Amino acid sequence: MELSQIDQLLADRVYRSRFPAEIEAAYHAHRLNYRKHLARALIIPTLICYNAFLLVDYLIVPELFWLSVQIHLLVVTPLFLASIWVFFKSRGPVVRDTAAILPPVAMVAQIMTIYALSAGNSEASHYQYLAVMVLVYTNLLYRLEYRHALVASMVIVTIYLGTLLGVGASAPVLQVGAMMIAIAAYLSLSANRQMQWDARLGFLRRLQDQARLELAEREAEKDVLTGLFNRRRLEKELANRAGSGARPLAILMIDVDHFKPFNDYYGHLVGDLSLKRVAAVIRSSLPGKDDLAVRYGGEEFLVFLDGADFSQAYRVAERIRTGIVEMAIPHEGAEDAGLVTASVGLMAACVPPEACDALIAGADSALYAAKQAGRNRVWPPVERRGAATRGASQAPSMPVKLTA
Ligand code: GH3
Ligand code: MG
Ligand code: MG
Repeated sequence: MELSQIDQLLADRVYRSRFPAEIEAAYHAHRLNYRKHLARALIIPTLICYNAFLLVDYLIVPELFWLSVQIHLLVVTPLFLASIWVFFKSRGPVVRDTAAILPPVAMVAQIMTIYALSAGNSEASHYQYLAVMVLVYTNLLYRLEYRHALVASMVIVTIYLGTLLGVGASAPVLQVGAMMIAIAAYLSLSANRQMQWDARLGFLRRLQDQARLELAEREAEKDVLTGLFNRRRLEKELANRAGSGARPLAILMIDVDHFKPFNDYYGHLVGDLSLKRVAAVIRSSLPGKDDLAVRYGGEEFLVFLDGADFSQAYRVAERIRTGIVEMAIPHEGAEDAGLVTASVGLMAACVPPEACDALIAGADSALYAAKQAGRNRVWPPVERRGAATRGASQAPSMPVKLTA
């Protein structure tokens, strides 16, 4: 995703609701990893804390202690472990979150069952408050999506209030119980929603940092004046392609002719504009998506043609050379041409990318030969009838002047 789109999402505070589909999916994948990590960390503390509450049973409802032990150890604890297993194994978010919600609901059901069975035990009126703690635990520690936390809270509150009403709890017990569970639900759900916003905002910020980094890396590989790649990118490309075996590769070295006198005559700013236009011709002449146009030095460019043999590379070189001439940029400062022209040195061979330095050196020598031979030409030249492939090392000693 583009940096500008992410900036826009942040400005629109979209993280508070749903992201666009692509980001939403990435967010949930990231979130799932985090929740799995959390689930692992929660297993032991949950089992210890939940089963430690058997002490409360022992102290407050001793007559139901053994029943509670059985529900704890034979029903809720296995259910909790099974839900963790389903949470890790399941692929669907609905099954996963249902599995996550079931154990706390079962804990509340267990608490309210013991509470209901303890009618007549005055101490037991406090027992039901354990359900409030389970509600808080669910909303704060499970990191459920807000809407799932809302469903879980509604189920827990319903079981809680339903039991109080069902057993005919006294008005004060009912009022205090309702107030406590309502406040606990409100506070823990608010915290859950805030955590969700923070998580979504944090995720978007991470995406933003990543997009900024990628943009900075792309910019660092570009030449500021011409927008072509720079040598850093060339080296990176060659390193990336290293080890991919020998294949046809070609290098063109392109140098603008008599550019010093051009600058002297028209000034540097006009010189810069001309370099930009030359770069545009080079860029538009590349045939393949894996080809690379690099500003190699001041008014010197390199073209890396992946998979091109000599005759293919020659055609590209000629297209560039004639394209520059056809722009018809006046060059009064030149001794001869009258227009801005460029010379091109070419070297093609079947080599592994890591051997490209030799190709570059060969193309550089060919460029020197093109200059020596009178500029505005591709070197080594090719008969117009066309030799199929030929490397610079096979260049004829007498170049053929190519006209614009
Ligand atoms: P040749 O045909 O032999 O290549 O002659 P040349 O004058 O082009 O070669 P030389 O190497 O003597 O001069 C290159 C000139 O390119 C020198 C410098 O003024 C110019 N140049 C290099 N980088 C830039 C740039 O970024 N902007 C401008 N305007 N000129 C540049
Ligand atoms: Mg030059
Ligand atoms: Mg030069």
